[in-house]
Amino acid sequence: MPQNASAAPVVTTPALRSRLPEVGTTIFTIMSALATEHQAVNLGQGFPDFACDPVLLDAVSQAMRQGHNQYPPMAGVLSLREAVADKVEHLYGHRYRAADEITITAGATQAIISIVLAVVHPGDEVIVLEPCYDSYLPNIALAGGVAVRVPLTPGSFRPDFDKIAAAISPRTRCIIINSPHNPSGTIWSQADMLRLQEILAPTDVLVISDEVYEHMVYDGAPHESVARYPGLAARSFMVSSFGKTYHVTGWKVGFVAAPAALSAELRKVHQFNVFTVNTPVQYGLAAYMQEPGHYLALPAFYQRKRDLFRQGLAQTRFRLLPSEGTFFQCADIAQVSDRSEAEFCRWLTIEIGVTAIPMSVFYRDAFDQKIVRFCFAKEEATLRKALERLAKL
Ligand code: PMP
Ligand code: GLN
Repeated sequence: MPQNASAAPVVTTPALRSRLPEVGTTIFTIMSALATEHQAVNLGQGFPDFACDPVLLDAVSQAMRQGHNQYPPMAGVLSLREAVADKVEHLYGHRYRAADEITITAGATQAIISIVLAVVHPGDEVIVLEPCYDSYLPNIALAGGVAVRVPLTPGSFRPDFDKIAAAISPRTRCIIINSPHNPSGTIWSQADMLRLQEILAPTDVLVISDEVYEHMVYDGAPHESVARYPGLAARSFMVSSFGKTYHVTGWKVGFVAAPAALSAELRKVHQFNVFTVNTPVQYGLAAYMQEPGHYLALPAFYQRKRDLFRQGLAQTRFRLLPSEGTFFQCADIAQVSDRSEAEFCRWLTIEIGVTAIPMSVFYRDAFDQKIVRFCFAKEEATLRKALERLAKL
């Protein structure tokens, strides 16, 4: 029977106790919106402003037309997993089995949260090296884990292995590492990897190795994947992103390579938080990866952009930090402004027309060291336009 409107109970949304009370909207979304609003050159959020290879687009549309449009296997299209196994073996010398050691994910973001949910029990400790990518700490919180934050050395952003070793306790479940490193642009050396391997050898600590910038290393340096180090590979989830590698960040496809026992636990979570990943894109990527030149050309391609941007920025009052890898260039703003990093980035967007990201957002306590991050994955013309504007400072 219809109720009398005046007697209808007041409809309210129940109060919700937030699972992530300290979290707002990510800085990348905020700064991209601000850049659009003020028509600034957006060197904030990390994504290319140039097109991907049309050969890749053709491969994906061909897969669609061939009818590859239904659910793929839960762990990913086999030919893509095989292409990943071949590439990792070719580059890093370790063969992961496509059948049970490689899983295709909806980008590195979904890979990392799925790994964290698969391995971290409530109360387990997870070591993160700050500054760190902004999804790590909320991922640990959602799993009920305890983040143990170890700072990278201020100024150089090098890992401090004494501090890392001291942070390991009987409750440590895993450590998250990221080389090439977002935001600092530093890379880990062979000596760093050997030291980590040595420190972890007597422990049960797992490694989540975020290697989304594996193809962006400069000046001839090798990328030091965990896959190169047997003692690390045996305890690691190696994570990478096709979006980053092939200039298609919006496709959101990545992969995890890990020993079978670890992959099995990851897949238990993966099958219930995404189940499977975009089928035609997987077929397209598998075909595209048959040509190794597509990824082997990337370091030189990005190094030209880095060099152009650095040469321009060197003419300004920004102080350049090294950019050994990634598509990020950090700069010290102390000579340019008295503002905090966050205020400076807003001001730069609104008044100067260039968007950058404050490094403080990569620290839980918003540590401000007067450093901002620029993304140089842009057309030359875009970089030149930004440099012209930055030269005014
Ligand atoms: N890790 C790092 C360090 C990143 O910079 C990013 C941003 N792309 C990701 C993970 C997420 O990658 P994806 O877009 O594949 O989810
Ligand atoms: N990884 C990119 C960055 O650091 C952006 C990814 C995102 O917007 N979440 O800028």
